[in-house]
Amino acid sequence: MIVGSNIALQTIEINKFGVMKVFKFGGASIKNTKAIKNMAAIIKQFATQPLLIVVSAMGKTTNALEQIVDKAQKNLDYRFSFDEVKSSHQEIIRQLEIGDQSFLEKIEACFKEIEKAATEVGEYDQIYDQVVSQGEVLSSMILCEFMSNSGLPCEWLDARKYIHTQETYREGKVDWVKTKQSIETLPKVLHQKIIVTQGFIGSTIKQTTTTLGREGSDYSAAIFATCLPAKSVTIWKDVPGVMSADPKRISNAIVFEELPYQEASEMTYYGASVIHPKTIKPLANANIPLFVKNFDDPSSPGTIIHNCKVDNLPPLIVFKDNQCLISCKVTDYSFPNEQQLSSIFAALSQTNTRINVMQNSAISFSFCVDYRDSKILKLVSILSKDFEVYYNTGLTLITVKNYDANTFNEYRTKPNVILEQSSRSTLQVLVKN
Ligand code: ASP
Repeated sequence: MIVGSNIALQTIEINKFGVMKVFKFGGASIKNTKAIKNMAAIIKQFATQPLLIVVSAMGKTTNALEQIVDKAQKNLDYRFSFDEVKSSHQEIIRQLEIGDQSFLEKIEACFKEIEKAATEVGEYDQIYDQVVSQGEVLSSMILCEFMSNSGLPCEWLDARKYIHTQETYREGKVDWVKTKQSIETLPKVLHQKIIVTQGFIGSTIKQTTTTLGREGSDYSAAIFATCLPAKSVTIWKDVPGVMSADPKRISNAIVFEELPYQEASEMTYYGASVIHPKTIKPLANANIPLFVKNFDDPSSPGTIIHNCKVDNLPPLIVFKDNQCLISCKVTDYSFPNEQQLSSIFAALSQTNTRINVMQNSAISFSFCVDYRDSKILKLVSILSKDFEVYYNTGLTLITVKNYDANTFNEYRTKPNVILEQSSRSTLQVLVKN
């Protein structure tokens, strides 16, 4: 349901005493003209209160920008992907009927920056961040321009001037002290205008752009909310709220009305993609509630994640695809000892690789990690110095939290289970597809 595509041109006044809120809209809510109009209509309903809007890049722009940087760095032809990204943004601007000369020049400058950065010589992850971050810069500029033209008083804010990180490219580690000092200055602006800013991006002390990890815009919203501080965060999504499983995989999945922070945080750890894993912690520490709501049905309640106790939660099923199982086998008929285990963990730390499940046997230590080819090859080459290393890719890790007898039996007996582990509340099986 679209809640209104035409926004009245009367200018809205913000109530200085209204509670400050942060809204985050993901790529799906800004993927085309219709979606952008829907999003602006939702914002308009809340626009009399101080609002900070965090947006992702449009649709699948980040994936396309990843391809551009990858191709450009390998000296392959990136033109086709580049032209596609550029023309899709230009088409949306045209359909929204926005933009004077200076706005169009700013959009053009973003595309110049993408090409320049993608073809730079240097460290891959740093170059990646300079290119991929432009998706959010573009989407936020387009949204802000459209909202201003529609009578919503708004200001475009460069998130890189407010979210300060270390030089950990593609995984920006936030400098909370500096970030708080910068963001604390924003309430003054918020009492006059709606702020539109980018998710996913920050910058280093040298003012080089960093990204916070894929899907990191939720985390950006949590950072802004914690530092302002805001009364709540709402993540607007294309699903009715947080569900007990992905409805595309499990048809009888249910929507939770409310969830404790702890439960939601554990779900994200196991791979539930509805919220970025780093989002809950800062909000829970500051006791800021997080709403997950459907942008196609804004009046439906969605899910509230907050400080609460919910008894008898139903089984919660999370699928994590693209997993890799690595087994390190000791070669001299001894058993894996502490020193050998510590060398495995040192290699994981050196390659910044997180373990999703681990298991040991008399002769080997096995662990499952997200598959990213360059990282895994590096890890395997380090481990091969001390072990015989085997690995399987293309696996899915299924986690059933709060399992009952039915789900326990169902998932353990799935075909092609190559690793299984259970505790009192959680079952995990690794399945070969
Ligand atoms: N655009 C980024 C991504 O696709 C960040 C986000 O959407 O949260 O990963």
